[in-house]
Amino acid sequence: MQKLFRFLKPYKLELILGPLFKLLEAIFELLVPIVMAKIIDNGISQNNTSYIGKMCALIVVLGICGMCFAITCQYLAARCAFHYGADLRKALYQHINSLSCTELDKLGTSTLINRITNDVTASQSGVNMFIRLASRTPFLIIGAIVMVFIIDAKLSLIFLAIAPIIGFLLYFVMSKTIPLYTKNQKKLDNIARHTGENLEGVRVIRAFSRQKQEVKAFADECADLEKSMLTVGKISAVLNPLTFIVINLGIVAVLWFGGVHVDTGRLTQGNLTAFANYMTQILLAMIAFANLVVILTKAQASSIRVAQVLETVSTMQDGSELSDSANSEIAIKFNHVNFSYAGAGDSILENINFEIKKGQTLGIIGGTGSGKSTLAGLIYRSYDVTQGEVQVFGKNIKNYQLKALNKKIGLVPQKAVLFTGSIAENLKWADENISESDMQKALDIAQASEFVNQLQYGLNTHLVQGGRNLSGGQKQRLTIARALAGKPEILILDDSMSALDYATDAKLRTALKEQCKNMTKVIISQRATSLMHADLILVLDDGACVGKGTHDALLKSCGVYQEIYHSQMQ
Ligand code: ATP
Ligand code: MG
Repeated sequence: MQKLFRFLKPYKLELILGPLFKLLEAIFELLVPIVMAKIIDNGISQNNTSYIGKMCALIVVLGICGMCFAITCQYLAARCAFHYGADLRKALYQHINSLSCTELDKLGTSTLINRITNDVTASQSGVNMFIRLASRTPFLIIGAIVMVFIIDAKLSLIFLAIAPIIGFLLYFVMSKTIPLYTKNQKKLDNIARHTGENLEGVRVIRAFSRQKQEVKAFADECADLEKSMLTVGKISAVLNPLTFIVINLGIVAVLWFGGVHVDTGRLTQGNLTAFANYMTQILLAMIAFANLVVILTKAQASSIRVAQVLETVSTMQDGSELSDSANSEIAIKFNHVNFSYAGAGDSILENINFEIKKGQTLGIIGGTGSGKSTLAGLIYRSYDVTQGEVQVFGKNIKNYQLKALNKKIGLVPQKAVLFTGSIAENLKWADENISESDMQKALDIAQASEFVNQLQYGLNTHLVQGGRNLSGGQKQRLTIARALAGKPEILILDDSMSALDYATDAKLRTALKEQCKNMTKVIISQRATSLMHADLILVLDDGACVGKGTHDALLKSCGVYQEIYHSQMQ
């Protein structure tokens, strides 16, 4: 939680002046009942109209001054809260981007979206209301109590009797609702995850006619949240009426005993009215305080969730070396590499050893789930190895600055991911200043120029979210072109030709061989024909490397490779 306080530091002025103006407003508010008492005792009882007129004017002046102070405070509170929220959101987004895949896997996408939106907004409201009410309400309550003590100390013992009751009520509501608010936020995370997954996979849901089940599952989750929210609402709802009852009973007692004092002449009518007025002020301040408690409770639960993300430290330390320092002829080397995903237990890759020279092609083949994408991920340091080391151009990849390593490697992920914007904008991801002719060259090699040039707006064609206005094969070719546009020294194609027909697949491989001679290529594929010309082929089976060599050598020596090859050749 303390981590969030630093975001308030730049707004010290607002944090000091805001409550100060609210205090001034409270002082003016506290003066009004005294003036009222004077009107009754000195004006009305003695029929002094000019005195009454003067005092009424004074009340108006007090009101106007109080209003000006309140508006100033509101302005300062809004200014501070909105800037705080914006800064926090920015910092949170930046921090999330600095986390490694291990932490992102652990946290999950939907909760991160909720924390960056809902939770930051709740925390921001907390700051706003804190400035507006946190100083005013206690001051008004204490001030009013002091005033009633001055008016009649004995009568004010009634306040001392009701104060602990109200204190207990506030404690009860807070202790019950704080844990529930945290639970509700988690339920909201689940709903967000469900919504995201369903909207993303809407076509699959329709293809399997699962709309009914999905709508029901969503409705169940919403009903569960509704129930839980109603529970919080019910507990919070008892606070206001109970506070009202207790304070109003106090007012009844004041009028009862005060009336006796007026009869005996110990108390004037004006002072009794002022006494009752202060009681009402305390009532209203108590209710404002109860609402403040509810808002601050929510804000606290949300702030803890935001702070949890900010406190998550990336397990991946950035290296310091730039790419220029690496000049080995060995482009990629795996040295006794073992890897398992955090929290998943079992080893995914076991004792992987190989090296591949600059400009050569490495092929990786193996059944589904055998660890091909995981192995590729270790080359661009998506995750850190559990044991052993990965070298790129002779250096342990942990020593590189991540940015420098990313610049060396062009990745074409297994799932083609494109972003909203024009095709040209997507191609500029690796190099913002790329020329149009270089873009065309990248599209040529990726076998994408033909379809891009046929589009009405060519490179300026707008892609919708996720590139959904393109076919699977078109998307794959654009992701290949995007990687090539950065002119990487190592190109990783993770099953990136699966949606291409055999002829296009062959043309792409030939273009890569002829036009990217110095580029080291890592090609992952399920098709033996896509890899048969590679300089080295790794055959993975359940995380172990069961074959290593050229196509011809593997056909002679590796049973798993023979099986894959012959099954595809039939
Ligand atoms: P495919 O041919 O289907 O793409 P693959 O050979 O690329 O398969 P990987 O994606 O590397 O397989 O997965 C290897 C194993 O690691 C699988 O058993 C998978 O369940 C597991 N795995 C993959 N990603 C994660 C993750 N983020 N967290 C935990 N386990 C994972
Ligand atoms: Mg894979």
